[in-house]
Order: sequence, then C-alpha cells, then structure tokens
Amino acid sequence: MNILFAASECAPYIKTGGLGDVISALPKALLNQEIQVSVILPKYGNLSDSYRNQLELHRIIEVPVGWRKQYCGIEKIVKNGITIYFLDNEYYFKRYGSYGFYDDGERFAFFSRAVLEALPHLGIRPDVIHCHDWQTGPIPLLLHAHYSNHPFYKGIKTVFTIHNLRYQGIFSKSVLSELLDVSDRYFHIDGVEFYGNVSYMKAGLAFADRLTTVSPTYSKEIQTTYYGEQLDGFIRKRKSDLLGILNGIDQSSYNPVSDSSLFENYDSYEGKIRNKKLLQEEIALPVNESIPVISMITRLVDQKGIDLVLHVFNEMMKQNIQFIILGTGEYRYEKAFRELANRYPKQVSATNKFDEALSRKIYAGSDLFLMPSQFEPCGIGQLLAFRYGTLPIVRETGGLKDTVIPYNEFTNQGNGFSFTNYNAHDMLYTIERALWFYRFQPKKWKELTEKAMKLDFSWETSAKAYKELYESLHVLNV
Ligand code: ADP
Repeated sequence: MNILFAASECAPYIKTGGLGDVISALPKALLNQEIQVSVILPKYGNLSDSYRNQLELHRIIEVPVGWRKQYCGIEKIVKNGITIYFLDNEYYFKRYGSYGFYDDGERFAFFSRAVLEALPHLGIRPDVIHCHDWQTGPIPLLLHAHYSNHPFYKGIKTVFTIHNLRYQGIFSKSVLSELLDVSDRYFHIDGVEFYGNVSYMKAGLAFADRLTTVSPTYSKEIQTTYYGEQLDGFIRKRKSDLLGILNGIDQSSYNPVSDSSLFENYDSYEGKIRNKKLLQEEIALPVNESIPVISMITRLVDQKGIDLVLHVFNEMMKQNIQFIILGTGEYRYEKAFRELANRYPKQVSATNKFDEALSRKIYAGSDLFLMPSQFEPCGIGQLLAFRYGTLPIVRETGGLKDTVIPYNEFTNQGNGFSFTNYNAHDMLYTIERALWFYRFQPKKWKELTEKAMKLDFSWETSAKAYKELYESLHVLNV
C-alpha cells in the first residue's frame, strides 16, 4: 500500500508544535509495518540552508488557483526510505513563519490543489491521501469536486486527522469560487459552510472517507459542546467514521542515552541530576540539586492553561521551587513570564524562542513538567517528559488523560500527577502533592522517574492501528 501524507509541518524541516513531530515520526513507523509513505509539504522561506541545499528539483507544474495558473516547483529529499516532497511557490511560502498571514486562505487553497495536481508527476499513485489539520482540509473536497471521474484519481481514498480542532481555517465564502473553483452546491450545513463562511477544517471533516483524532479521549470530547468548537453536532453525524489513535514519539530521536543535545547522556536518576545542575548553571538559576525544578515547554496560548499558572504563580513561588518556561506565542503571556523572571530572578527562567536543543535540555534537567491544558488533542510534551525521566503534572483531558495515570501511593500505580477541573487551585494542590513526594519520598521519587524513562510510547502500536485503517479503506476499493 502506498500512502501520501499531506501536511503543513514535518520536523526537522518545519515544526511549530506536535504536528511536526507526528509527520516526522509516523511515516518511519509505518515503513516498519511495510507501508510505503511519502510526505508532501509547502516549501517555507524559513527552511534552513542545510536542508535547502539537499533539495533536488523533481518537476515544475502549473496549478490552477481560481482563474489563475500558478507556478509550482516540486522538490524532494529522500531520507531513510521516505520521500519528502516540497511544493515551491515563493509568492505564497517564501516568508518568515508558516501561518497566520492575511492570505492563508489562498496559500492553503494553492497548497491543497497543488498536492492533487502534483500526484501524477510523483511516480506513485497513493491508495490513500492522509490529510492533517485545516491546511489540508480542502484536499478531500477538491478530490470530490474536480478529480473523482478522472481515471488516475478514481478510487483514491482520504483520511483526515484532526490534530487540533480549535484552528479551523475560516475564510469568506468567496474562496469557493475565487480560489477553489468549487460550486455553491458545496456551501451548505453538511458541506463546507460554517456560520456563513467557509471552513477548511469542515471541508476535511465533510469529504474525507475516514476521520481520526490523535487520542481516543479527544475523539469523544470533540463530540461535546465544551470541546467541539461549534463542530460537535457535525462530528457526531460522522462518528461512525471517526477513530482516536494515540500519538507516539520518536524514541530513537528522543533518547536520553544518545541525545546529542544534552549536557550528558544518562540512563539513571543520578545522570539526570547532573543534567539538572548543568541546566541551572546554563540558564543562570542557583545551582542546587535539592530545589525542585518545574518546567513548561509550550506554545503560549490559552489552550495550554497559562491562565491557571499565572493566577497562582505567587503561591507557587512560596513552595521554594524553580520554574523554567520555554515558549512563544501570545504577547501578553510572553510579557507576563518575562516580568515574573525579573521579579523572581533566583526562581524563574523565561525564554521566548523556539529552541529544539534547549527544549531537550529542559526535559532532561527538570523534575516535573507542567501541562494544565484546557484541552489537549494528544500532547507530545508529557510523553517527551516521561522519556527523560521527568514526571508530568497534567489536567485530565484528551491525550493527557490517556497517557498520564495519577500516582496512587497505596497501590504504587501511576506515572504522574493529575487534576480534573480547570481550576488554578486544583492545579496548585496537585503541584504541592507532587512536591511532597519529591521532598519526603526520595527513594520512591527516583523509582518513579526511572520507571517513567522506560515507558513505551513508541509509534508501533499506533502505526498498526493506522495500517488497519488504511487497509479497511483499501478493501472498499476491491
Ligand atoms: P502542540 O502541538 O499543541 O503545540 P504538543 O505538546 O503536542 O503541543 O507538542 C509540542 C511540541 O513542540 C513538543 O515537541 C514541544 O517540545 C515542542 N515545543 C513547543 N514549544 C517549543 C519551544 N518554544 N521550543 C522548542 N520546542 C517547543
């Protein structure tokens, strides 16, 4: 079977969050299941020179965008048996950053159309196009509207994965005729219409053959009003085609034993503590192994529960902890943490940049990793924290609920700490409880961290689930 992943991110070429991790790791895991996957991405302006120099021009094509024809270079890199195609159009993508531009509707209409136009030139005919998030939502719609009778495309199936339902790609109705060249007959409540506008997310949800989310709990949550982002009713209608498959992590890349970004490699608590002290030194916090270090590595948006942290921050500081945050996002949050770092220079370190190497040092050098999310489709941060022997403190939602089992001192079961309600003092209480174990049960703590390092959140099980899903679609074709 041949699968094509269409996505807007893939580490290490471009990553702003968990999507980049998934698109990088899942194809490798599928290859181990004997499924051939290629990946197709936009060629962004901030692709680093080291990758840019490896690109090989494969073909140049023209892509219709409304009444215009736009240039599209198809470039590629082949790595570990996986071909990554980059679609090049400097007008749309040679910018600093990947999304958030005024013309995102046009940029991703172009990308979606270009993916389909590129297919006959790739030398493969995918059985399934696996689309990820709103940026690729128009692909199933376009396939339906423009290509379904074309012999090359006939029978190609689509899977649409929701990595985050909050980001939907909502644009004015005119994108249908002006960019996607799709008739008004798709503009209705069971089509792409969303409160008078067009939703790229809904285009994917409506026209893909199968839908998935990145954790089982999130697949249920999004069918409720609280988590459904005004699409819960529509998603309920498609629930028989919806499946939740938990994300994994690339355990060979994220491995404390071999990660070259770390100060020192380790496979024990003692090695972890050496990293902790070197981290404290690097980020200019007092070097003291007995002070608990709590960290966050996150996009600074309200989804991540930043409001809870800020609400009880002064109370948290009274616990004599060190708090490290690495994150970029909303200005108000970046500013708030910078101010807190000034107010508590001996306790707080705030870094507002995207820094993969530093993130790995922080995962390794922290005792606790905080993710009090309002909602969390899967969450990669808590899985990486486990891998480096850092215990997560999370709110019980989405993938956090599926992966973090609250520690129970009576049964000795569990791998982290969690709370249910989106409430700052519930979070604070859970932090205090974790700190109690850290301070008064050092033997237990060491055992828990070493157990966390050995947890298996590799992609193998999930890759098998995706394989089954693709096969079930393949059967429809036979
Ligand atoms: P989301 O996809 O919602 O952003 P996840 O927890 O699923 O959240 O994935 C976040 C990924 O991005 C993790 O790999 C995390 O380490 C990484 N990350 C987030 N912010 C930064 C940052 N400022 N620097 C480096 N890595 C970051």
